[in-house]
Amino acid sequence: MSKSLLKSAEQLLNDTEERFQQALKELEAFTPINFHDKEGNPSPFYLPLIYSLLGHQVEKLQDLDLPLKEARRLLQVGEGLPENVGVSCLILQEVALALDFIQGKEPATQNGFHYNGPIAENQLRELGIKLLDGRLAGLALLSGQAKNSQAAEKIVRELRSRGLLLLLGGEDLVGQLSRVEWGYESGIIPLGPRLNSLIYAFGFACAFALQFGRVKPGDLSGIREYNRSNLRSFYLSLGPFSESGGIALAEALALELPVITDVELPEFALPDRVLRIPFDQLPGRDDLEKAENLVERCIDRGGIRVSLPKEPSIPVEYRTELESEAISEEALQVELKGFELVTMRDFSEIKDGRTCVVGPEIEEVGREGSIGLLVEVAGRRMKKDFEPVLERQLLHLIGSAEGVEHKGSRDRTQIRISRRAVQKGLKLEHLGHIVHIGLHRDFELIVDKVQVTIYTEEEKVRELLKEAREIYRERDARVAGLRDEAVENFYSCLSCQSLSPYHLCIITPERPGMCGAVSWLDCQASYEINPDGQNHPLSRDGCLDPVKGEWESINKYVYEHSQMKFSRFCLNSILDDPPTVSSLCECLTTIIPEANGVMVIDREDTSPTPLGMTFGEFLNMAVGAQTPGIIGHAKAYLTSRKFLAAEGGIKRVVWMSKRLKEEMKDGLREACRRAGESDILEKIGDGETTPTIDELLAFLQEKKHPALDMPPIM
Ligand code: SF4
Repeated sequence: MSKSLLKSAEQLLNDTEERFQQALKELEAFTPINFHDKEGNPSPFYLPLIYSLLGHQVEKLQDLDLPLKEARRLLQVGEGLPENVGVSCLILQEVALALDFIQGKEPATQNGFHYNGPIAENQLRELGIKLLDGRLAGLALLSGQAKNSQAAEKIVRELRSRGLLLLLGGEDLVGQLSRVEWGYESGIIPLGPRLNSLIYAFGFACAFALQFGRVKPGDLSGIREYNRSNLRSFYLSLGPFSESGGIALAEALALELPVITDVELPEFALPDRVLRIPFDQLPGRDDLEKAENLVERCIDRGGIRVSLPKEPSIPVEYRTELESEAISEEALQVELKGFELVTMRDFSEIKDGRTCVVGPEIEEVGREGSIGLLVEVAGRRMKKDFEPVLERQLLHLIGSAEGVEHKGSRDRTQIRISRRAVQKGLKLEHLGHIVHIGLHRDFELIVDKVQVTIYTEEEKVRELLKEAREIYRERDARVAGLRDEAVENFYSCLSCQSLSPYHLCIITPERPGMCGAVSWLDCQASYEINPDGQNHPLSRDGCLDPVKGEWESINKYVYEHSQMKFSRFCLNSILDDPPTVSSLCECLTTIIPEANGVMVIDREDTSPTPLGMTFGEFLNMAVGAQTPGIIGHAKAYLTSRKFLAAEGGIKRVVWMSKRLKEEMKDGLREACRRAGESDILEKIGDGETTPTIDELLAFLQEKKHPALDMPPIM
């Protein structure tokens, strides 16, 4: 405990007691005390702090005796515990202001300006409701003096632009705001010319808990607890500390308000409870940028959620029904291919709402271009596990804009934008805005900050792609060790029903979602975030066939969630009621009857397969349907133990898209080794070696592919 603070508090006690005794000599003990604002509207709860902290009603001069005694007792207990000193000062300063009221000095007027004085009862009701329903994002208490007027203005304007209510104590800061409109209506309320007018703000915070939280008077813990959850707030003390500045800081700490200073700390302030950010050390090219960064840090510290519109403000229509809109070649302005990644950051690393395009904008790209969509998020309840869940939302969020088609995911992201949308003024930065608004709206419990960077320089995208792939690999590795048998339940994914109304994925540790972007762990995280969302846990009751992967309970769920279109899914069979195919699937596997095996076609492979059809043609045939002989799946399913378990697994693969074979070669070798045929990979044909069925059959014979000796697949 700082000796100087205790000395200041004792001095305050002595002065206030002396003033009280003097007042008793000069006035009747029954002299009424009425706290009111500059308009004469009464404040709530008598003297709000004394009533909130002690449960004591002060209506007359003599009623101040008890709080003064309690303030003295608190200063003596434990030789001045910091919290007691803070509470004692809150009481003493409110008593002092009550004496000022009796003397007609409050609410104060200075140079013709009328300060607000205490927050009145009608103001408490109006402001409190706005704070609770989100029309006001939070409460900022400000005092002291910023580095200069420009910085002061910037701080105040930034805070207001983010929807905070500002209560200002003292004349210094107000004096720096000559170009800012203040007053009750503008949400910037100067309370009084002296620093002790912050007492009105502290009183407001306590009255808020009593009024809206029904906290009992005298219950300080109850006040703190209610405000912790319901009143997002902080106290920003600017400039060097005076003695009374130290008192204000102790008072704020006693109420457990987050405190930020832009100077060195007084010794009594515990570092973990006070954020010290020396102004000149803040990042920024000039004082304005530093001021903006200071506001950012205050908002983080106060846990303030800036209120945002529910829909993005963009020059084209925005509706979820537009998600299934396909952009034809004739209508196309630009097609961007690359990656998308959502990654978690510390609060201090990103700025909420910042959207940058690094590289050419739409109209400079030409017909084809690269894209790297990097979405950085921070949140108190955010976890690494939630990253893929948020990433999956990009498909819906971006695809809901008129004239924008979003396909694929991860490193196979494709964004097509129509000429008409560009003519209407759509730019890439609008996509960032869409993501910012959408993630805040849909994930308000876990997302506090969203920053979006859209890279369109081909070289930069290529460079970042390597890092993104490393992250995708790490995510996949986490689920790689899990076995279907080791988990209690599987999960559903209904996300694609906006594109294919009857389709659903059943996701197990060894059978990820067909798009390749949704693992069993992602579903678990998604369900944790939103139990009413697109992923539901599925129990495995009534096992009908463990090899094919069929359960009564899952069949029942499939029936109920495919609008009664399908009643049976065998998860690991290609022939016997296989799962439906999603339009987003990474691969398609189809039977080649002549070869007694299957071929796996990569989504990126546009050339004809040995059966004469392309990936797109097979997909058009199978999408949204249950087609014996064709399954859609993620690339990762290929190397899973469950891959076509009913038909003999990896040994059935006789042909693969060349690119996929190359990309998956390590995993495939391991899967082949597990199957007891470590050299199958060399026996699998591809688009280069065996483009036709005749060439394939000859190749399989020559290589003695094991599928030829397996039981007939059909
Ligand atoms: S493909 Fe399956 S897992 Fe992926 S989003 Fe669609 S339904 Fe979900």
